[in-house]
Amino acid sequence: MTAFMPRADCEVAVIGAGPFGLAAASALKAAGVDTLTFGGAMSFWRDNMPRGMRLRSPWHATYIGHTKGPLSLDSYAKVLGISSSEPLRLENFVDYGLWIQAQAVPDLDKRRVGRVEKANGGFRLALADGDAVKARRVVVATGLMNQQLIPVAFDGIPRELVSHASEHTGYEAFRGKRVAVIGRGQSACESAVLLKRSGAEVDLICHGDIHWLGYRALSGKQSWSLRDFLSERLASPSRVGPFPISWLVEIPGFVHRFPEPARAGLNRRSLGAGATGWLKPDFDGIKVRAGSRIVSAFAKGNAIELRFEKDTATFDHVLLGTGYRIDVAKLGLFAPDMLATIARRDGLPVLSAGFESSIPGLHFVGASAVGSFGPLMRFTAGTPFAARTVARFIQSDKSRNYAAA
Ligand SMILES: Cc1cc2nc3c(=O)[nH]c(=O)nc-3n(C[C@H](O)[C@H](O)[C@H](O)COP(=O)(O)OP(=O)(O)OC[C@H]3O[C@@H](n4cnc5c(N)ncnc54)[C@H](O)[C@@H]3O)c2cc1C
Repeated sequence: MTAFMPRADCEVAVIGAGPFGLAAASALKAAGVDTLTFGGAMSFWRDNMPRGMRLRSPWHATYIGHTKGPLSLDSYAKVLGISSSEPLRLENFVDYGLWIQAQAVPDLDKRRVGRVEKANGGFRLALADGDAVKARRVVVATGLMNQQLIPVAFDGIPRELVSHASEHTGYEAFRGKRVAVIGRGQSACESAVLLKRSGAEVDLICHGDIHWLGYRALSGKQSWSLRDFLSERLASPSRVGPFPISWLVEIPGFVHRFPEPARAGLNRRSLGAGATGWLKPDFDGIKVRAGSRIVSAFAKGNAIELRFEKDTATFDHVLLGTGYRIDVAKLGLFAPDMLATIARRDGLPVLSAGFESSIPGLHFVGASAVGSFGPLMRFTAGTPFAARTVARFIQSDKSRNYAAA
């Protein structure tokens, strides 16, 4: 096993060691590209998601770059002695990520990157501890870090009264408390269930009805349509997006060639709020206030008052399951002058077929690539395509440079 040795330069620096960063680093190394990877392995999954959570993605579309073979989830399940039964538990997925890291990226540098600057035809990475590393190329795989969406109504409310779901790894502290969960996506609905299980009294507050995903039997739907039947029988492997466009989502290289409005439409339709049907039986005892619009919020002593259009309600705490809005400016990695030269649309970098931004040598994978490659980039199911594509692009560019030299 290669031990970690701090280094001063490399061909490619990968920033982030979540599923996309580990997958990209693993593919680059396998392609013989000198690669250094930075960040805590699976740290977002370890530090920003609640214990007891289960993955919404189906087992057979949960990847960290490897769909089959010795580094696949199936192989790891054999090592662990667990069955491929769904839903996959958070801790098993984290362990899988750590296992991939130990095998495929053993030289991971766990330090945080504070700044990326252009330097001498490449890049200079300033690390949080004061060291610096030079790289010819950079792959940014920082995921949802710093991208939390906080509705303006909660500006200025003390942290003890309102928090984002990503700030919690457990809800034991809320036993006996009245908690309002805002949102109706997977994170909001699963947090509501876990809060209830921890002994909190939970209201789920959302704009409209919860859209239960998958498994009609669990969705509680009484009616039956040909569309329902087809959705179940012909479901796409990753189940991202509504049938039948879910099948387009599975081909990110094709989605990349769509005209921009068509890709934006695909993203809008596929990334709407929804919660997996297997959560529904656990909703007993959770008060769902669908159609409630929060007008304002006020701190009142140790409580928080929410004003709706027609009434008010008071809670001990508000948990925001309001999701994320990706904007690379919020990463804090780039100085304003460098940021200004990254072509962006709605905060997302415009990427070439090789995941390269308008700054040559600067690549983005994962959630930042949704604007160019579609909804699969928000899920681990997108890791094999992103990793393979980036590695091929960088390897062939390297070969071209050697041939030209
Ligand atoms: C509650 C919740 C549940 C989810 N469930 C699923 C699911 O079931 N299936 C699914 O496919 N997806 C799910 N997702 C989406 C999931 O976040 C992505 O699929 C996946 O994490 C993307 O991987 P990533 O590597 O891009 O990002 P992340 O997993 O967020 O990893 C980013 C990494 O970058 C590192 N990093 C960030 N900034 C720096 C820096 N400056 N320097 C060094 N390192 C840095 C972090 O430490 C982290 O390790 C869920 C998301 C949430 C919030």
